[in-house]
Amino acid sequence: MSGSPEVLALPLLLAGQTVLLLAEAPELRARLEAAGAVVRQPAAYAAEALAGVALCLAPPGHPALQEAAARGVLASPVAVGARKAGRASLVGAGPGAADLLTVRAREALRSADVVLYDKLVGPEVLALARPGARLIDVGKRCGRHAMRQAAINALIARHARAGAHVVRLKGGDPFVFGRGGEELESLRAAGVDTEVVPGITASLAAAAGLGVPLTHRGVSRSLHFITAHGADDRLPEHDWQALARAGGTLAVYMGVRTLPLLAARLIGAGMAAGTPVVAVENASRDEERRIWATLGTVAEAAAGLEGPTLVLIGEVVGLAAAEAGEGRIAA
Ligand code: SAH
Repeated sequence: MSGSPEVLALPLLLAGQTVLLLAEAPELRARLEAAGAVVRQPAAYAAEALAGVALCLAPPGHPALQEAAARGVLASPVAVGARKAGRASLVGAGPGAADLLTVRAREALRSADVVLYDKLVGPEVLALARPGARLIDVGKRCGRHAMRQAAINALIARHARAGAHVVRLKGGDPFVFGRGGEELESLRAAGVDTEVVPGITASLAAAAGLGVPLTHRGVSRSLHFITAHGADDRLPEHDWQALARAGGTLAVYMGVRTLPLLAARLIGAGMAAGTPVVAVENASRDEERRIWATLGTVAEAAAGLEGPTLVLIGEVVGLAAAEAGEGRIAA
């Protein structure tokens, strides 16, 4: 990409207009064309080339700039030669609500040339991408991988190498069950300058919305993020005894399908069947649903949930349920 920020903003106004591009700037050309401009890029320049042109872009000092200005044609210099190196940002999009995005994430979106996003990322957040940015749905959802991880890594690297700022937008936080580590590793190996922008992970958003403190003096001294989704859609093996003994709060990701088995395992490991549990579907979004239950009842109570669901297990859930006047907890 080359050109001043003003030039980069211009494509918005250029649909159907003719642009005379007198610099070797393939990214800029692609961007102009994506905005609907008709780009003329003659091998040799003659003043006649300015006829019918809405905008002339040329290297600084190029005679066309002056001639364009003299004819009342909009003209702007563009930098040539040293093409800006591309880069990648692995960005946490948060749980869904656009105002739970970090300022840094918003800024990355604003400067992005290409955005690769997951199923968990909602339209409100995508709407914050720079107009003109290319949005690519790499739609992964637990159990259904629309694009394989290796292909996603390669795609990010390819666009970054071509000079683009690539934002890899992931639900929640990229480093919490988000495969951000694999992407970072692969991009670094490919020599792509990569930053990580944290996001609000689902369990934090769910807890905040419910008023469930994840740790609480005298009630819970630890917080465990665990996944309930392993190979072949099965419940992965955890050290259930250790989790039960720890007496902390469990935040279970990807747990709806394996919830009956998970609850059985924890009860089998000595966790009380009466331990309060809340399942939050679509935390922070308009369609958020909450099911208050206990370890003994949650499998049945949450059976109908299909969207992304976060399950919180522990005595802290009881505190909030009592405070919220939730009488639905079945013992
Ligand atoms: N990186 C994400 C987690 C991806 S794994 C994060 O940090 O939040 C996908 C799982 O995250 C879902 O199965 C669900 O358990 C949880 N999840 C993500 N967004 C959610 C939301 N808005 N509400 C409830 N659970 C959510």
